[in-house]
Amino acid sequence: MELRCLEISSRAARPTGRARRPHVAQSPNVVGLECPRCRTLFKGARLFTGCPRCDAQKIPVNLSVKLELGPLARLKTERFPATPRGLWRFRALLPVASEHPVTLGEGDTPLIHLERIGRRLGLSRLYAKDESQNPTWSYKDRLCAVAVTHAVESGARVVTIASTGNHGASTAAYAARAGLPCVIFALASAPATMKTLMQAYGAAVVACPTPEARWDLMRQGIERFGWYPTGGFQVPPIGSNPYGIEGYKTLAYEVAEDLGWRAPDLIVVPSAYSDGLFGIWKGMAELNALGLVERVPRMVAAEPYGPLATALERELETPAPVPGAGSVAFSIATRYGTFQGLAALRESRGLGVQTTDEGIFEAQRALAREEGMFVEPSSAAALAAVMQLVTRKALDPDQTIVLVLTSSGLKDPGASRTWLPEVPASGADFDTLLGVLRESYGLELHR
Ligand SMILES: [Zn+2]
Repeated sequence: MELRCLEISSRAARPTGRARRPHVAQSPNVVGLECPRCRTLFKGARLFTGCPRCDAQKIPVNLSVKLELGPLARLKTERFPATPRGLWRFRALLPVASEHPVTLGEGDTPLIHLERIGRRLGLSRLYAKDESQNPTWSYKDRLCAVAVTHAVESGARVVTIASTGNHGASTAAYAARAGLPCVIFALASAPATMKTLMQAYGAAVVACPTPEARWDLMRQGIERFGWYPTGGFQVPPIGSNPYGIEGYKTLAYEVAEDLGWRAPDLIVVPSAYSDGLFGIWKGMAELNALGLVERVPRMVAAEPYGPLATALERELETPAPVPGAGSVAFSIATRYGTFQGLAALRESRGLGVQTTDEGIFEAQRALAREEGMFVEPSSAAALAAVMQLVTRKALDPDQTIVLVLTSSGLKDPGASRTWLPEVPASGADFDTLLGVLRESYGLELHR
């Protein structure tokens, strides 16, 4: 049983290594795991249940990897190596030591200027970070590449996750790549595409009646059998594996580099438990601390039910559950916010925007039809949030805004059928075809 942790002095520079399991490799720059609320430092490679001190005060808080940035000051002039391409270029800032990370070529996704949508919205510098171009078509691959590499370094023999979709599919793929068995706790309601993906990668997928039931079973696997989790299993949720969350920092590094080592004004992230929101913010904060960018952008959480927006509005120390009754953006539809998400918004003077199904479909359609990008409804929530902010006149037209498009529309194609017509029959001759194109699609075609 390895959930036990050792608290170390908040002044300690780094763990002594005395109690470390002999087979656990660790990046030399890792100081330990730090609580973003009380700043206590802990060591223990498998501390996945958050800060015990804050938990005792009934404020559940995920821990975060603390790096010693001093030895990395050379990055300001040397920057990052050009190879290997993708996420592992940035290994100096990742909490793993392995020379052979578990990789499928994740990261190095394009930052795409949304000229047509931007022109329509009056935003000349609107960009999309297209994370659907990752190996399993979602940005969870950044988390899972680092988490599963850490699992291997920690001597894990089984990887586990409770997930209805992207996180599960990604965990399954990286577990397969690492040659480790994977147990996934899903919900029966998960889209068939997601279940197919997870099983195709070889994971043992089981359907649970409720989210809480999933977390309880997962916890037992971790506590009784030492399974390694890539995601959270707390009630209320705190967020995912802190090592994995570090992978999201690389998204920030790539954005800054593509903008000529400048931070954008705003980064909009579809958020549930805010692993991505927190990781991307942390990545920008590190670049700022290293002198690679001059500021940290304001972070915006796009959320169907708005737990973070509500917590900011009510000035709560930590988010409280909010009402929620179903959303097309099932990947991010949660009534719970997390402390880490709220911290990223507070530290960056950011905000939460509550999205609607109508707004999400409008955004999904615009991205597909005006820019050629088909993303999952949860990803389109980022643009839906920006559209709302434009309506509220809350954005400066010259601001540089980056939308994180987290996942491919092919993950949940059924959702998009609601705004698509049935495919009509062509008819047998060309004149009939022209009539069908006109009636079904409004296309008036002439020689
Ligand atoms: Zn704490």
